[in-house]
This record gives sequence, C-alpha cells and structure tokens, in this order.
Amino acid sequence: MAEHLLIGGITPFSTVDWPGKLACVAFLAGCPWRCPYCQNHALQSFGAATLDERDLYGFLEARHGLLDGVVFSGGEPLAQAATIDAMRHVRELGFQVGLHTCGCYPGRLADALPLVDWVGLDVKAPWDAYERVARVAATGELVRRSLELILESGVDMEARTTWHPHLLSPEDIATIGHDLAGRGVRTWAIQAYRHAGTTGELADETVYPSEVPAGLAELFETYEFRRA
Ligand code: SF4
Repeated sequence: MAEHLLIGGITPFSTVDWPGKLACVAFLAGCPWRCPYCQNHALQSFGAATLDERDLYGFLEARHGLLDGVVFSGGEPLAQAATIDAMRHVRELGFQVGLHTCGCYPGRLADALPLVDWVGLDVKAPWDAYERVARVAATGELVRRSLELILESGVDMEARTTWHPHLLSPEDIATIGHDLAGRGVRTWAIQAYRHAGTTGELADETVYPSEVPAGLAELFETYEFRRA
C-alpha cells in the first residue's frame, strides 16, 4: 500500500505563493536541512503532519472553478516519495501544480517536473557556501543539479534568495545573481529576512533594496526585492 502524504497544514487561498495564480498551499512535513531563517521549522519533522492526501483531495473537490492550482510547499515537499503521486492526482482533479523546493532532491525533482507547471526554487547561497545556510554538508551541488533540471525542462520558474546580512554579503548576492543570469534564469526574487516565525537564532536585522549591488536587477526579465 502506498504511503500517505504527510501534510502539516493547508492554506485555502493564497495570491502570493504562486505569482499570478490563486492557489491553495499544502505544507508538507519533513525537511533534512536546518536553515536558521526557516519560518516553518516545526515542519522539519515528519511527525508534524496532521493531515494527509485525502484531506487535500476532499478540500479540492469543493474548490473547482475557485482555484487555479495547488502549491506543494513545506518543509521540503520532495522529501516524500508520495508527493509525486499526489501531484499526479491533483492534475487529474483539474488543478495546476506549483512546487516550492530547496532543490535537495534532484532525482525526485526529475520525476516531478513533468507534473509541475511552476517551480519556486530557493537558491540560498553561492554553490560553494551552501553549508553556511543549510547547515548540512555538500548541498550546493544538489541544488545546482536541480536548477539545471528545471531549466532543461522548460518549466516556468522563479529563483528566490532569502538574505540575512550575517549569512550573505552583498558580494555573495552578486555572485548568486550573476550565476543565475548566466545559466538562463529569467526571474529572481531577493527576500529580505523576516524574524517573525523563526527560532530566533539569527539577529533581528534586515537588508534594504539599496544594499543590492548595482546592475543585478537588469540581468533578469523579472526581478523583485520582497520585504517582510
Ligand atoms: S530548506 Fe526550507 S523548510 Fe527546510 S529548513 Fe530550510 S527554509 Fe526550512
């Protein structure tokens, strides 16, 4: 018997989690990383699940014509093999599929991409500095591979970088931006650190658009600096 999808919660309506779409968001349990700015740290544990795929499908049955799609978020949605079957079923129900991922499961991402309409990929640091943020070794190479897979697939995507001044310098931001643009990423968002909802490990400091190195925004078709 297939394993159930471990869901920590469902946001019924969101206009911000998938730009341009009205979507519900399924927050899946489980993540192997420990980013100090995580705002869903309770969901790092698979044990945080309170719902499963039957709750999601039941919710969607009553939302035909009201929602464009479902964003699989988390936690890390691809930490569960059951996510692939759930994406397929959501499509069969007539909804589009969005994915928020940190890119740490490129193999499972390859299976998911044919089922996905849009990806929000976290790009947390320069590739060789990932451990500074993810707190797990050898993670940058996995994300770089995931990014390559998304770009090869042609699936619509947004790269997003959360910026805390103690984790990334302006030079790091420039390195990330130039790398992404050089690979063909067209949409990039810098997200200023938000203290609310974190464990409080990081100082409550933020960054401002004026701190973004000059010339980066122009490298992208769509660029956004998001404030809390
Ligand atoms: S990858 Fe995402 S869910 Fe996992 S610890 Fe980092 S911010 Fe939290």
